[in-house]
Amino acid sequence: MNVIDSFKLTDKVAFVTGGGRGIGKVCALGLAEAGAHVAVVDLLRDEAETTAEEVRGLGRRAAAICCDVTQPLAVKDMVDRVVAVLGGLDIAFNNAGICIHEPAEEMSDESWLNVVDVDLNAVFFCARAAGKVMIAGGGGCIINTASMSGQIVNRPQPQCAYNAAKAGVIQLTKSLATEWASHGIRVNCISPGYTGTEMTMQVKEMHPDWIADSPMRRLAEPDEIKGAVVFLASPAASFVTGHDLVIDGAFTCW
Ligand code: NDP
Repeated sequence: MNVIDSFKLTDKVAFVTGGGRGIGKVCALGLAEAGAHVAVVDLLRDEAETTAEEVRGLGRRAAAICCDVTQPLAVKDMVDRVVAVLGGLDIAFNNAGICIHEPAEEMSDESWLNVVDVDLNAVFFCARAAGKVMIAGGGGCIINTASMSGQIVNRPQPQCAYNAAKAGVIQLTKSLATEWASHGIRVNCISPGYTGTEMTMQVKEMHPDWIADSPMRRLAEPDEIKGAVVFLASPAASFVTGHDLVIDGAFTCW
């Protein structure tokens, strides 16, 4: 296959969780630009619908699905709907996430459970539901959003639940990659560094510290994440599985 063609996702079907805004939204549009039809999954119905409308504007089919990805039954329904509405499932981008900054000794049970539920348990629920469909269909591709926080401890903010959950996503990714390789399913994750989304804009006072620790002296634009996701979803990455693709401007090198 010509190398340019190998990056194309023509008529593939994808879902993107957390696709209503931030990294998920930009990547949903990136997958559509590469040729995929996209189901935009989010807690936020209006935002999901807006992204879906933008996908349609690119000439692809789209669905907006309101789903709390921490609920296994809702996740199964969501995946069934993607298959029913868009005609299959080739690419699952499990990206929804939250972050809570609380010192470990003061962290409430609710905060810990909330972060682990969204950032790790939900990734498993979505991967499991997608994996079942992909096994039955003869293959597919799963991409999970981890974080550089799965490898390093951020400063100055205390966020032990987030860091632990993201480390779990990296190891879950490797585990699923080995379990499902024989089914033709590739499973990878991305680990962004600090990226300019609502998640990070809520704590602008920390940006000077983060930037001082960054070799590139800036945050990533959300747009700078989508190429990695399209690559991992595409035939260009046909032998890439069990990989954690770090997109952090060398932050974790220091
Ligand atoms: P945003 O907060 O901008 O977007 C996250 C989206 O996920 C929101 O639309 C949010 O909806 C949705 N979401 C949250 N919980 C659920 C849920 N239970 N079910 C369905 N949807 C949900 O975050 P980013 O775009 O910045 O982050 C995307 C991913 O990238 C996350 O996994 C994050 O951890 C990861 N990441 C982000 C980095 C950054 O610097 N921004 C760095 C490294 C990793 P709602 O608003 O209703 O909660």
